[in-house]
Amino acid sequence: MKIIIASNNQGKIREFKALLSPLGYEPVSMKEAGIDIDIVEDGETFSENAHIKAEAIYSRTGTPVIADDSGLCIEFLGGAPGVYSARYAGENATNDERIAKVLDEMHGVDKPLRGAKFVCALYCILDDEHEICVTGECEGFIAEEPVGENGFGYDPIFMVDDSTSMAQLSEEEKNKISHRAKALNSLLEKLK
Ligand code: IMP
Repeated sequence: MKIIIASNNQGKIREFKALLSPLGYEPVSMKEAGIDIDIVEDGETFSENAHIKAEAIYSRTGTPVIADDSGLCIEFLGGAPGVYSARYAGENATNDERIAKVLDEMHGVDKPLRGAKFVCALYCILDDEHEICVTGECEGFIAEEPVGENGFGYDPIFMVDDSTSMAQLSEEEKNKISHRAKALNSLLEKLK
């Protein structure tokens, strides 16, 4: 069964293909499905945004869809950057600028107060009667400065233990503990 992944990010599509193909699903990107729409993600939670994306695509195509939304939540900042993770330092800011903004806001904050988590919500619509929403979280804390070259986004300032940032993990290691992997595994359990 064809299932649209609401993304054109090849890394994400690869991950979905590897996990869903054995269950008989054929994941395709938005581009492969011929969908080119701008969706306004104005939800207040990751789940709401994933729902908005999934609904926008399902209502246009009637094809099963999985949409995701994810980001970083920092306790000391009241959960920010949260759903604004991608545009935390402005629409056109670079990743380095987003990281610099977070480090600036966390300057001088003691380690016990630097707790943070990555969150991923997945919203799947199979047909008019079957919708599944799952979330996955990965806990850690915010580093004093960026470390590591792997991954993307906030990985260099997200410590998974006292000496390792997410950006120091290999792709395989990250995929074992990440918020996205946890959400995907929950979704797989429900799809089965
Ligand atoms: P999206 O869900 O792909 O739109 O991601 C939203 C934003 O959250 C990204 O632009 C990143 O800044 C951040 N983010 C989400 N997942 C990760 C991750 O695994 N590592 C680092 N940053 C992430």
